[in-house]
Amino acid sequence: MGASIAFQLASLGARDVVLADRRGIAAGATSKAMGGVRQQFSTAAEVRLAQASIRFFEELGSPLFEQVGYLFLATTEAGLAELEERRELQAELGVPAERVDPSFVDGLRTDDVLGAVNCATDGVADPPAVTRELVRRALKLGIEVREGTDAATIDADVLVIACGPWSAELAATRGVELPIRPLCRQLLETSELGLPDDLPMVLEAETGFHFRRRGDRLVLAMTDPEPRWGFDEVVDESLIPDRLERLQHRYGPAAETRIERSWAGLYDMTPDAHPILGEVADGVYAACGFSGHGFMQSPAVGRALAEEILGETPGLDLSPYRLERFESCASFPEELVL
Ligand SMILES: Cc1cc2nc3c(=O)[nH]c(=O)nc-3n(C[C@H](O)[C@H](O)[C@H](O)COP(=O)(O)OP(=O)(O)OC[C@H]3O[C@@H](n4cnc5c(N)ncnc54)[C@H](O)[C@@H]3O)c2cc1C
Repeated sequence: MGASIAFQLASLGARDVVLADRRGIAAGATSKAMGGVRQQFSTAAEVRLAQASIRFFEELGSPLFEQVGYLFLATTEAGLAELEERRELQAELGVPAERVDPSFVDGLRTDDVLGAVNCATDGVADPPAVTRELVRRALKLGIEVREGTDAATIDADVLVIACGPWSAELAATRGVELPIRPLCRQLLETSELGLPDDLPMVLEAETGFHFRRRGDRLVLAMTDPEPRWGFDEVVDESLIPDRLERLQHRYGPAAETRIERSWAGLYDMTPDAHPILGEVADGVYAACGFSGHGFMQSPAVGRALAEEILGETPGLDLSPYRLERFESCASFPEELVL
């Protein structure tokens, strides 16, 4: 997120832009992410952020972004009704999410599927590689990168807090309280298996279980049975057999695979799972609280924040994401946190 904002600021002609990370580039959640890029959310607020970012990913193209689609499968009548309701909202906003016959994916088990929705312009990306590409472009435009530097120590006219799960800590140094809590999430990666290049991200609508291709392997994830709040990034190995079983049930070519690698990272959760964007104190801006889906929103957020910081009217309406919404209770919970 910081890399995107710095790149957009530099693109708009800002000078003296410093991208500071107290560890290194893409050291936080970005290096842990699934890399899903989807416009299929349950609220207009989230749909718009991802939708406004798709063009950027399309321009990046393969191998940084593979536009393979995002296929939601419903196995119950209730799940199908919710999926259809969301599809209608997305279609109204111009997202090309369509009812499909999921058997177009070879090897996918579909005999228990009542209905499916795919958005062909969604896809999967490589978050650390995209971040490094943004930094490379931003450096060419004259920004300065300071790794191993705490942003709190920099004397600046404008401070942008884009510290993911650690954002509340930096905000506190400026007397600002941000309602952001870290939530531990884990991903599992299989052994190598033969996979088609165009395998979409596959999601079970009711359970949230999902998987994607990364090279010759699959990466899988699902919400934990109990939320694990806190900064500990620990894999709960007891969940691995269940996740593997789900994969093998759903995807035939994974029948003989095993889990070879697992890791955990942190979501930066807000009370309504929408981000906090914009000025939060004099000269202090926030771009955090992405609640597990900030990577796919970073192009649009970076652009809008940069425009606002430079005194322009952002092309994207940022009013739904202001910090003040928590005072007035005008929050609107996003249901599709995966
Ligand atoms: C397991 C997992 C799966 C995910 N899957 C997806 C997905 O499929 N799609 C998607 O869009 N998003 C996903 N996300 C969320 C996504 O990774 C983030 O929202 C996104 O990468 C934006 O990250 P960020 O830049 O806000 O935070 P981070 O990547 O965490 O970066 C914050 C940086 O701030 C630095 N920092 C902290 N404090 C300071 C300080 N005081 N001074 C200077 N630097 C500081 C840290 O070192 C860190 O590098 C996932 C996250 C996790 C954990």
